Amino acid sequence: MKDNYPDLEGKAVPEYFKKRIRSAAELKRLMPYREAGQGDLGKSLNSEPHDTGACIYIHVPFCNNSCSFCGYYKCLNPHRGLVDAFTEQVKNDLEYLSGMPWVAKNKFRAVYFGGGTPSSLPSGSFFDMVDLISREFNLSEDCEISFESTISDLDEEYLEGLGKSSVNRVSLGIQSFDDKVRKKNSRISGTDDIRDTIRGLRSAGISNICADLMYNIKGQTVDSWQSDLEMIRKLGLNGASVYPLIPFPGSPMVVKGDYSEAEPADEYRYFAMADQSLLSIPGWKYYTPVQYGHYKTGKAGYVVSQADNADILAIGPGAGGRINEIQYLNTYTVEDYAIPGTFPRRKMKISSMGPAYRAVERKLSLFRKTSEYVDSLEEAYADDHDFLEFLLKNSFIRYAKNEISLTRTGRYWSGNLASLATGHNRQLNV
Ligand code: SF4
Repeated sequence: MKDNYPDLEGKAVPEYFKKRIRSAAELKRLMPYREAGQGDLGKSLNSEPHDTGACIYIHVPFCNNSCSFCGYYKCLNPHRGLVDAFTEQVKNDLEYLSGMPWVAKNKFRAVYFGGGTPSSLPSGSFFDMVDLISREFNLSEDCEISFESTISDLDEEYLEGLGKSSVNRVSLGIQSFDDKVRKKNSRISGTDDIRDTIRGLRSAGISNICADLMYNIKGQTVDSWQSDLEMIRKLGLNGASVYPLIPFPGSPMVVKGDYSEAEPADEYRYFAMADQSLLSIPGWKYYTPVQYGHYKTGKAGYVVSQADNADILAIGPGAGGRINEIQYLNTYTVEDYAIPGTFPRRKMKISSMGPAYRAVERKLSLFRKTSEYVDSLEEAYADDHDFLEFLLKNSFIRYAKNEISLTRTGRYWSGNLASLATGHNRQLNV
């Protein structure tokens, strides 16, 4: 255990770990998966779903602007031919997959267009895909259809299309409402544009508007962060995803060396300010350690389904899905994907989950969502009961009404705790 640092009330918070694990991707390599192949994926798609209530995820890998902090796979300023070919291929995939038994017998509870920047697609292409899914797939009555968007993409044509479509949730990549901070982090629009867009979305009938915010970004101060958090309340938004800056290898800021590791005390302070401020908005709760929202109007169906380990039919380069016992990651490029007749199946990473994987995943559930029942968690940790004791002793979890939930400190360290729960790194971290 390292030095202490102050919480919002000035009390000492022990700095438990050497380095904060900020990204779920860092945990993936710790999971006990087994290699699998195309045949296994095909078998899964040809069988009945083990559970219904899956999601559809479409990854749109295009962006018109490169954010300095971003290390995700993306294709910048693509030419129209590539965009059209991509959209056609997604529609082909959707049509083909809609006839597979696993899809036909499923009932989908959420559809999510992520990226990249889905709103960078021409509006006609985007809404064609939405219509196809609404027509060909069995969606639950309250199915959440969500897409990620920048502010600048949502012009009148898009807003008009949204008004006629079945999209009902929008996740806006805002990061900060402060114009100076936005500029320093390569965000194009200003705060006035944000207000206009939110107004436009409401007029188009979008009832669930969520903002992505980020801390530890360039030019940010404690005061600007506090104002960002207050804006969520003032604008009457329905939800917020709050992320720390993650210095992804390959992002422009890391390549240029224009980045310094955040001081742990600062990082905790920003996190705790967000946690305190967002949970004080009437009706708001946290859905996962990074997702907050109103309990009724700010649901985050896709994010919560992911945390619940739901099956995901994932389409597009860079997308990762799971069908019954099989997981896959599409590691091909958009050019590979969009060229007709060359669907690069060999460039997929496919693995089988199996009982060992499921057992670890079960243990991790506590660190991915709101709360867990005591009895089911005790069952999951039957071979490692000391770990639950460790969590309790260090105030990472609390018991209430037969449920266990993460405390604020537990949510802050959720990545590290999940890593410990897999059985790895214990000797290093504690
Ligand atoms: S953060 Fe989003 S919008 Fe920015 S470059 Fe990355 S994928 Fe594109």
